[in-house]
Amino acid sequence: MEHAAVVADRGTTAAPAVPFFTQAASFTALWPAVKANLDAVVDRGKYSHGPLVGRFERALAEHIGARHVIGVNSGTDALVLLLRAAGLQPGDEVVVPAFSFVASASSVVLAGGRPAFADIDPVGYGIDVSTVPVTAATRMVMPVHLFCQLADLGAVTAFAQRHALTVVEDSAEAIGMRWDGLHAGLHGAGGVLSFFPTKTLGALGDAGAVITDDDRIAETAAALRHHGRFGRTLDNFPGISNETVLPGLNSKMDDVQAAVLLAKLATLDADIARRATLAEQYTRALRGCPGIRRLPTVQHRDADTNPVFYVYLVEVDHRDALAAYLAAHSVGTETYYPVPLHLQPCFAHLGYRRGQFPHAEAACAGALALPLYPDLTESQVDRVCSLVRAFYGGGGA
Ligand SMILES: *Cc1c(COP(=O)(O)O)cnc(C)c1O
Repeated sequence: MEHAAVVADRGTTAAPAVPFFTQAASFTALWPAVKANLDAVVDRGKYSHGPLVGRFERALAEHIGARHVIGVNSGTDALVLLLRAAGLQPGDEVVVPAFSFVASASSVVLAGGRPAFADIDPVGYGIDVSTVPVTAATRMVMPVHLFCQLADLGAVTAFAQRHALTVVEDSAEAIGMRWDGLHAGLHGAGGVLSFFPTKTLGALGDAGAVITDDDRIAETAAALRHHGRFGRTLDNFPGISNETVLPGLNSKMDDVQAAVLLAKLATLDADIARRATLAEQYTRALRGCPGIRRLPTVQHRDADTNPVFYVYLVEVDHRDALAAYLAAHSVGTETYYPVPLHLQPCFAHLGYRRGQFPHAEAACAGALALPLYPDLTESQVDRVCSLVRAFYGGGGA
């Protein structure tokens, strides 16, 4: 396995590259455990509907304290299945923040509903429910937990109760995050997890899960991932019925991904701790740096509400120029998320205009994610921070 940094560096004398993301070293260390699980899949000869998905679901449910984990093939599918299982009807409105990954809102459309956008709180980046008009069609609210912390679930829950709305959480990024001791995704009808490779618990390709404490939602989501077939579908797949009650998807989690995720789950807590250490190093090194408008600010931190650094996001002046400067020095960055959802062409028919959600628009224009993953070294973080300081003329590199 050749390390991306080594490849990028060949033939130059520059400092080694800092990729935006890699888990090559983690996978190398974990490979014996991954391989043993993969061998079990191959030896058994059951390449779908195998036992590893059920094993992973039970292990993860125990780890996060959820009653049900339903493995599916992506976080996006998990959102669609959750919305449908939670009872979304054609034409229902779902309140979604305008600053998020596009799947938060496209899942609503795919499930037959209509997104109603809200602005965000400019410090924590969570949904600001005071910015959306509730109509007769409003049925659900979807807080999205972005980058390192949960949206303000106190405000979201009060808003949902006041208007009799169902809370569905886009907790795709939020594995390990808790509010009042309860894991993300379990504060309303249910939530989702994404195991896209860059996520805190990343697979070797696409995978996701619906998580819920509600038996009926779990049963429906489990049926919907397998063509709408009800039966004893929760304990993975045995004894499934052939009757199709709801039109479903084929969105089963692959046993190959479950084999990888089962092995990686063992290092999840250590990975989260490593991310926190590196995030602190960034914050120490970048505090007071001219040009940086905002460092990650954890708003709710107590014994029962813990953040998890999935992404280290800064808001800066001249964002695109900084990204280009870092790229020229072989440092990868990513813009989360460059286009606010209310201005995405796929939602143009909803009739939103620029200027309606100023905090979301400002975040889209200024936010930049720096490299953050367990394989990253302290000296790589130092190098990134020196380059950022040098770019803004604040000393360094
Ligand atoms: C990653 C992500 C998703 C989608 O998950 P996939 O597994 O990539 O389909 C949805 N919402 C948010 C906020 C995400 O970060």
